[in-house]
Amino acid sequence: MRACECQNLVDMSTQDVEITPQTNIKELVATTPVAGEVLRAFGLGCPGCGVSGYETIEQGARAHGLRVEPILAALMVAMSTGRVPAIAEADRMPQRRAPGAFTGRAKIAHVVAVMSGKGGVGKSLVTAMIALGLRRRHLQVGILDADITGPSIPKMFGLHTAMRIEADPHRTNAQGQPQPLMTPALSRSAIEIVSANLLTEQEDTAMIWRGPILSGVIRQFYEQATWSDLDILLVDLPPGTSDAPLTVLQSLNVDGVVLVTMPQSLATMIVRKAANLVHQMKRPVLGVVENMSYFVAPDTGTRYELFGPSYADAVAERAQAPLLARIPIDARKAELADAGRVEEIDDPICDALAAALVGAIAEHPKQAQTISLL
Ligand code: ADP
Repeated sequence: MRACECQNLVDMSTQDVEITPQTNIKELVATTPVAGEVLRAFGLGCPGCGVSGYETIEQGARAHGLRVEPILAALMVAMSTGRVPAIAEADRMPQRRAPGAFTGRAKIAHVVAVMSGKGGVGKSLVTAMIALGLRRRHLQVGILDADITGPSIPKMFGLHTAMRIEADPHRTNAQGQPQPLMTPALSRSAIEIVSANLLTEQEDTAMIWRGPILSGVIRQFYEQATWSDLDILLVDLPPGTSDAPLTVLQSLNVDGVVLVTMPQSLATMIVRKAANLVHQMKRPVLGVVENMSYFVAPDTGTRYELFGPSYADAVAERAQAPLLARIPIDARKAELADAGRVEEIDDPICDALAAALVGAIAEHPKQAQTISLL
């Protein structure tokens, strides 16, 4: 009789959410906290993040490069015992291209550069929000942090461990020395990230990086990293219209550029200059984002244009591009970004940004050799 009651208790705890590859991660973790521990043990740190509500166990596993079967098995065990079972090392190692197997570039379907005329307009936060929106559409996403002198992407995503850097077995420089090959860091929601902030401090590696000029480094970040086959690689450019953004536009096979601005006449003037530059490089401006566009008082709902009236439409017209979004000032987003928890932003504006960008990419087809996965 007692045994029977216990059995019922277990059944009751598991009957709410069934464990299948199609189970939604957020719903599962909400009803069964031990499931969150299991997922974390596999390196899926996403139960608390803004992507998990849109992702099934199978999609989460695939995005992280893991097999779904061991995860399902471990979840079943945890549901019946209440504890996280032992997990084999091989099952939590992302299946990625090993350096030895890396003989060429990954198939990156689309490369989009995010640019601003000047610093501090929130270009990096906007890049992160676009990436989150794209992940919520189940796309494989990478961010190349090309803002070499002020890299802020890793901090926003709470990444502190240096990237693994090995000697590329397939590439040597003119002196016959091996070239570095980087393994991108993987964020909690499986966004691949390469950044100068994630370079190791080791002397021998630093040697490799000291020489090349900025734009050379950006190129290395693109070509000498074991990116997965990505749907979209976002390139967070240094602010302004210096050499580095120019190089990116010239040398990486960029689909187009997203211009980030804010409602100030000066910013508007500068962004026009940026738009001209992009057009001179014969790339399309895919869209304009006006960040810190307005502020909505939480108590009254009144909308204030703190930095002055919006210039978004005028800028978009000048850039001959659609306005992708106007993003309000939101202290919560800044707090999460500063605390390394940007992936917890769960805001429909991320979806709107991603949807508008995907639409703009479709309107500007790149050369035929890349097959769009969108
Ligand atoms: P940039 O890359 O253009 O230099 P960042 O993305 O680093 O700018 O943003 C600068 C600061 O402004 C950061 O602290 C960021 O969190 C904050 N910020 C950006 N956009 C917003 C916003 N819409 N609301 C509130 N704070 C923002």
